[in-house]
Amino acid sequence: MLTYTSRKEISEKTEQLRGEGKSIGFVPTMGALHRGHLSLIERANNETDILVVSVFVNPLQFNNTGDLTSYPRDLQADKKILETVGCDIIFVPDEKEMYPKPTTEKYNFGTLETVMEGTFRPGHFNGVAIVVKRLFDIINPHRAYFGEKDYQQLTIIRKLVETEKIAVEIVSCPTLREDDGLALSSRNANLTTEQRKEASFIFQTLQLAKKRKNHICPAHLRQLIINIFDANKNFKLEYFEIVDDKTLQPIMAWESSKGMIAFVAVWLGKVRLIDNIRII
Ligand code: AMP
Repeated sequence: MLTYTSRKEISEKTEQLRGEGKSIGFVPTMGALHRGHLSLIERANNETDILVVSVFVNPLQFNNTGDLTSYPRDLQADKKILETVGCDIIFVPDEKEMYPKPTTEKYNFGTLETVMEGTFRPGHFNGVAIVVKRLFDIINPHRAYFGEKDYQQLTIIRKLVETEKIAVEIVSCPTLREDDGLALSSRNANLTTEQRKEASFIFQTLQLAKKRKNHICPAHLRQLIINIFDANKNFKLEYFEIVDDKTLQPIMAWESSKGMIAFVAVWLGKVRLIDNIRII
């Protein structure tokens, strides 16, 4: 496995490999790798000749300094994992390498970023777009893999690729979960043992939402689920929304959309967790 910290050097390497006719698969991550990341990596490995994984905790996408400082980091463990899963190239830039000058890029994702994560994490998606665009420019992959766990991010990235006319295929991968349903996330490492047990409540409640959909209208279902979270004192709900899977706008009637997803963001103590479930 080759490790690069320099943009210039990894660019030269991936261009050389492209020139040799190799297809490049890319999985961007913020490290603290878990089985969720590995599912993306495995898929990329199967579908492309060369697998590039980046590990970079992107400060621009954190709107909360506490969240940034407490974000789990373990590069040595990540490298070991990546060696064993057949990663060809790892890109580990530092902040200066990614952002030698203050950034000025301003992306506009319209109404895709005025809901859910966009509302509660101002500037988050602009920060995501800046780093992903730069990583795409540096690595120039044929295919890039993103998890449906961060579905709104995935939608924003698809929009970025379309508006910036980037020649990369975006591949979406299903959410990997623990046995009790909790979506795998690097932030789960910050949960206490007690909180970790309580956390399965999130997916259970999403499943309940899916089950109840035939019996009540979307607005009532939304309120029911909000009430269920509010009644559980372990959790502080930020939002629960049922939205169209393309526009991400709230739906008023089950017939109004062909695909719908329910999204949730909650605080469990000091840890913010997000999840989603396809309703239709
Ligand atoms: P992160 O390191 O959290 O930025 O995540 C890197 C990539 O892994 C993103 O595309 C995430 O959506 C994806 N990912 C994170 N958790 C999961 C999961 N539980 N299942 C599938 N993909 C995931």
